[in-house]
Amino acid sequence: MAFLNAKVSSTISKKASNYIEIQLAATLIHWYSREKRILPWRESRNPYSVWLSEIILQQTRVAQGTPYFNNFIKKFPTIRDLANASEQEVLKLWEGLGYYSRARNLLAAARQVSDEYGGNFPSTYKELLKLKGIGPYTAAAIASICFDERVPVIDGNVFRLIARIFGITADISQAPSRKEFEVAAQKILPIEAPGDFNQAMMEFGALVCKPFNPDCQRCELSSFCYAFKENAQHLLPVKRKKIKAQERVLNYHVFTHKELVCMNKRAKGDIWQGLWDFFLDERSDSNYFAHEYKGEVKAVYGPISHKLTHQNLNVWFHQIEIANLTKFQELANKLELTIFSIHELVTLPKSKLIVNYLTRVKF
Ligand code: SF4
Repeated sequence: MAFLNAKVSSTISKKASNYIEIQLAATLIHWYSREKRILPWRESRNPYSVWLSEIILQQTRVAQGTPYFNNFIKKFPTIRDLANASEQEVLKLWEGLGYYSRARNLLAAARQVSDEYGGNFPSTYKELLKLKGIGPYTAAAIASICFDERVPVIDGNVFRLIARIFGITADISQAPSRKEFEVAAQKILPIEAPGDFNQAMMEFGALVCKPFNPDCQRCELSSFCYAFKENAQHLLPVKRKKIKAQERVLNYHVFTHKELVCMNKRAKGDIWQGLWDFFLDERSDSNYFAHEYKGEVKAVYGPISHKLTHQNLNVWFHQIEIANLTKFQELANKLELTIFSIHELVTLPKSKLIVNYLTRVKF
């Protein structure tokens, strides 16, 4: 392991290491049994619930993800129910949560479990990795929590906690660093109840050893924490600077004819694949379409700011009313758009950006 300085490595002497392995696990599990948040997916060790919660909570806060979890369980109580759903149903339920590939993978994995495993989740880390959308983190969470397999779960909270306790300086944004953290986590992972221990690590990182202002004064692990002793909490974990997000302007053209609207279904390979939006054109000149199809630019709305992982979008919406129905249909055909009534829009799965626009405007 790369430690912050040589002095630290001495803290991981054999004696201290033994102490950490035993005491850390016991302290954490005790803390977890006392302080853990009551969350619906913790009511059982059902792999369907655990898997669903783990996928929903990737890139999502617990408070935001919980209603989505409840809605999914209500609509699809078993994995077979989910496997029988259509992609549009799943995307609709996922609406507003972002990172829509998660929803598509969710459905693909449910179908895999249903078709290839007779509706029962595979019970080992190795087998779980074969399911669509399940990476090392989710596979380890399901294998340890539901099937007591002794594999460490390394999420952002665990990276932070381990980096601070052991003084590990490997850059957590670099894939090869993961191994180093896995080795450290594996060393302290108990044989009994590894799932509880993993959850305790994640929960402790989320509630106590927080990114900013960790609660060190009341922390039960402070006696063997490197960062606490060296006052290095703010230096750990080490994370390379984020790539600067690219600024981008988008122009949507919202073609309407009375109570009808032209919608576009996002194609395969797109971040918003399967979701519905409007005709997107790089050119901002809405007069072009108004002129070509004898319409009128009724409103230009924007910019709405929308952040993606590596892009900051500034989005304009140009509403163009086409008075003649034949021209409107001709336009829809030419641009391969689908015509819906305004009232039907609510049933279509849409990105948060489009939902935001629709809640702010009146046609
Ligand atoms: S002492 Fe502070 S930095 Fe160390 S584990 Fe506890 S909360 Fe985290």
